[in-house]
Amino acid sequence: MNSDIAIKVTNLKKYYPEHKAVNGISFEVGKGEIFALLGPNGAGKTTTVEILEGHRDRTSGEVSVLGYDPKLNAPEFRESIGIVLQETNLDPYLKVEEIMTQFAGFYKNPRNISELISITGLDSFRNYRYRKLSGGQKRRLDVAIGLIGDPELLFLDEPTTGFDPSARRDAWDMISELKNLGKTILLTTHYMEEAEVLADRFALMNNGFIGKIGTMDELRNSKNSTIKFDYNGNLDMIPENIREICSITNKKITIQSNMPTQTLSTLTLWALNENIDLQNLSVQAQSLEEIFLESIKESKTP
Ligand code: ATP
Repeated sequence: MNSDIAIKVTNLKKYYPEHKAVNGISFEVGKGEIFALLGPNGAGKTTTVEILEGHRDRTSGEVSVLGYDPKLNAPEFRESIGIVLQETNLDPYLKVEEIMTQFAGFYKNPRNISELISITGLDSFRNYRYRKLSGGQKRRLDVAIGLIGDPELLFLDEPTTGFDPSARRDAWDMISELKNLGKTILLTTHYMEEAEVLADRFALMNNGFIGKIGTMDELRNSKNSTIKFDYNGNLDMIPENIREICSITNKKITIQSNMPTQTLSTLTLWALNENIDLQNLSVQAQSLEEIFLESIKESKTP
């Protein structure tokens, strides 16, 4: 396998007797990349990730993770990956440092515990018992445990579910730091903003298929910007070429444009000539959430 590729999946299928959970998907993840696997409930994400982790058999297809076939479950493979699950059951009475030491015992060459406590922002909590940690601190510890064997590849499942906005941002900083350490990360999350902030590339899954895959630029379609402003005036006053492409809800005007510079120029020239103040004027590139919702809508259209 190309040495720049961490994960290569070709025509992967997982059929249960009653359900085709994964329907022939193919993708690659480059080394050092954060790759987000996204999709609504039941899309097939967990099934795919569990096959990559070696925790589930596949029906057919080729899978290579760091050059290993996960289904063979080689010890070298297990040492090269780290898994951060959505929920972990740890001894509530053990202290952070004790838990880390316990896990370090499972590896031949574990990472330095103090260093890991520091990377994951747990310095002030190293002597806290597990039961005294907040949800966000527990999640940090989960990540620290996932990193203890110094894996090349980390599977991060819903890393910030249940976090408050500030804890979420701290977690994003920590995950970005892992990228700086050269780790490859396969991320699953239901928070589109999180994926957009963290990931280099995205695969949008639905019904066992990958509908779209690529970087943000590659995923954005031609209608790549949204212009919005509030307008109380007479709609007939708006230039015809703008009126034709805008939608109006509750005195808020939204324009989807694949030529935002030109559209904005027409709009602002008109407003200046008419002495109109375009209240709350904003221009935004298409977000991952918009792309995600569009992709699901497309997959439902016969
Ligand atoms: P979520 O976001 O809700 O976690 P997901 O994208 O991870 O969803 P999967 O857990 O991979 O989805 O499930 C995909 C489909 O396969 C679902 O319809 C699920 O019911 C089905 N499925 C998963 N595990 C099994 C199983 N062991 N036996 C039968 N069907 C299963």
